[in-house]
Amino acid sequence: MLSECTRQKKIARLRQATHQLRVMLQACRCCGRECGVNRWEGQLGVCRTPLSLVSPQVRYASATLHFGEEPMLVGTGGSGTVFFTHCNLRCVFCQNYQISWEGLGRDATVDELARDFCELQRKGAGNINLVTATHCMYPVLLALQKAYETEVQLPLVFNTNGYEMVEFLRCLEGIVDIYLPDLKYMDRKAAARYSAAPNYPQIACEAIREMYRQVGPYDVETSSSQRGVILRHLVLPDNVAGTYDLLLWLKDEGLTDIPLSLMSQYTPQHRAADYPEIARSLSWREYEDVVQYALDLGFEHLLVQECESQNVFLPDFTRQEPFVQREETTGSSV
Ligand code: SF4
Repeated sequence: MLSECTRQKKIARLRQATHQLRVMLQACRCCGRECGVNRWEGQLGVCRTPLSLVSPQVRYASATLHFGEEPMLVGTGGSGTVFFTHCNLRCVFCQNYQISWEGLGRDATVDELARDFCELQRKGAGNINLVTATHCMYPVLLALQKAYETEVQLPLVFNTNGYEMVEFLRCLEGIVDIYLPDLKYMDRKAAARYSAAPNYPQIACEAIREMYRQVGPYDVETSSSQRGVILRHLVLPDNVAGTYDLLLWLKDEGLTDIPLSLMSQYTPQHRAADYPEIARSLSWREYEDVVQYALDLGFEHLLVQECESQNVFLPDFTRQEPFVQREETTGSSV
């Protein structure tokens, strides 16, 4: 739980950020797409997410206790995870394609989302975990303000594809406690081919520097730590994402103190079958080689997964509980 002082500061920052974001959305450059559209006039950018100032709504597919996140986020009560519909990146292999590509979810008012945040706390969540919220952050900020003003005392996790502009992230300073970016590609060609975003590596690297500036690395030694960056990377077959260069960049930037979660769960989902080089699962040998390379580079806190994770983590958002079972957390520290 946050201290009362921290909670009050967060509420004050939420009020400021709402105003800042309202202006920014007149020519939306929240993410690396830099669409420049006026979101308040009904113009849609790449994320295809409508917004309304008069009656703000937000679409999401699930608000649930999730036990498949990294162990420090799961704790004993689970992570209070909200999966928002639509996405600004839309990778061809997305395992959440039902919501990111197909728009599955229900429209809710700000009050309804605030109530869901409160309900997650009552059910025992250790944090509020926003999954891919960049494109709909305005109504989310309004709901967070209501939830923190009335009841919520939990740290806030910003769970993202890392494709945010620095100016947008500055809006979130003092609001987000834990940044959880999934650094997807270091290879421009891969970013162009699988996400139509050749500038992804540049934007994401700047975003991660900004996140680190705001909150520093997550401190795994302190069990009560409620602040910091935890970095994810989904390892793709045949090193197509530029995984080894990505690890080298982190080393060169002096970021090996960030807990790094190397995810092994890749299986060809959605449109991946159309891309022969990624139309197969990651081999265990490929994954082990990446883990060993990270260890050789001196990463201080690696989170690795077991073989079974390829099936365990696949969600189905047509179900009330998208994750089949309360899976045991398969992440383990090295
Ligand atoms: S959030 Fe949506 S509209 Fe704004 S820049 Fe990104 S893709 Fe474009």
